[in-house]
Amino acid sequence: MVPSSLFAYYHLLMARRNETTSELECKSCGSDAVIEIDLTLPDGTEVTFNSCHNCEARWWKQDGRKLDLEVVLDLASKPRS
Ligand SMILES: [Zn+2]
Repeated sequence: MVPSSLFAYYHLLMARRNETTSELECKSCGSDAVIEIDLTLPDGTEVTFNSCHNCEARWWKQDGRKLDLEVVLDLASKPRS
């Protein structure tokens, strides 16, 4: 599983979804220029992708908990059952 393929995947989804801004604050730089995008992975797992426009920090969440990129990649690589 190559990370770039996951990013291609969410870029695909982003094209069909509205970006939403919220009260989020970047943990890295403190900026509130953070977008939040809800995604459903191929196995049906719902995750949230966050990206800071200011410092380009990126992170993932599931049910409000921070998710390691490795976990997201693992979930994204699972075939739909
Ligand atoms: Zn930031």
